[in-house]
Amino acid sequence: MKIPILDMHCDLLSYLARIPDANAYAKDDIACAIPFLQEGNVRAQILAIYTDVKPESMDLARRQAEIFSDLVVKSGEDVTYLDSGFVESWDQQNRIGIKASVENAAGIGSEGASWQEIYSQFDFILEKVKSLAYISLTHHTENRFGGGNYTEGIGLKDDGKKLLDYMVGKNIPVDLSHTSDLLAEGILNHIDSNNLGIPVIASHSNFRELWNHPRNLTDEFAKEIIHRGGLIGVNFLRAFLDPEVPERLFDHIFHGFQIGGEKSICFGADYFYTKDFKDPDRFPFYFPLVENAGKYPSLLKSLEDKLSAENLEGLAYRNALEFYRKLRA
Ligand SMILES: [Zn+2]
Repeated sequence: MKIPILDMHCDLLSYLARIPDANAYAKDDIACAIPFLQEGNVRAQILAIYTDVKPESMDLARRQAEIFSDLVVKSGEDVTYLDSGFVESWDQQNRIGIKASVENAAGIGSEGASWQEIYSQFDFILEKVKSLAYISLTHHTENRFGGGNYTEGIGLKDDGKKLLDYMVGKNIPVDLSHTSDLLAEGILNHIDSNNLGIPVIASHSNFRELWNHPRNLTDEFAKEIIHRGGLIGVNFLRAFLDPEVPERLFDHIFHGFQIGGEKSICFGADYFYTKDFKDPDRFPFYFPLVENAGKYPSLLKSLEDKLSAENLEGLAYRNALEFYRKLRA
């Protein structure tokens, strides 16, 4: 039996929103094109609404929310909402369940937006996409909510607290994949000291213990996520694994298990449109063994003799599926 995959992060939406003539089926353009997802038996895929910190971020996020709902309408034979109805019967149908997320709250509130505009943007996106798998307050840089991965010494700002407060009761986890360490700490402290009950995950992050990169989690934060019953999605980008050693992907996966994450570890491949990147060091973005979503079955095959059947299924889909099932309960 082929094991299904639930993947926590891809950037298909920002590719469709930004690139002229973009097409969700274009295998030459993006490693998470729908045919690759089908080949890889990816049965559930989270699609990020990604924006930079720019004055037009809110427009771009709205466009991606619209593209998300259009995808379900226009590609309905292949794609449907990843909701409870789909989850109950996903093994009996061939469609891919999709759910949106927000990668960088700049898409919810640009630097100059009023709080009235921010709340109505939040509500618009949520209504358009039906549910959000997670929200990340930042990306690499700083914004009004806090400090991203590549900022040092910038934590959770008052606007970040206000946005977290607005997330309460909406069953939306907060994502630590793109926080500075200080922001991660600030988010955890704000949630705890105010009893907000917001679940915490890292949708697409590896481990700093194995590869020292600001995009990777320290063991301290990884264990905190595990302790809270959250998810950690292993990222396939070469730069965050160890740019020279493809097999390090396996080590990151095993590390997740070793620190107690057998119910938390999952996949967050992070496939995006790479053709307009300037930095030659980043190419190729992915090692051949995981160069597109069609590689999932061979990846699972190479893990078969290294993980128990139960742990392999947990990693492939069950941990993430259970997390979202509990979130709704
Ligand atoms: Zn990302």
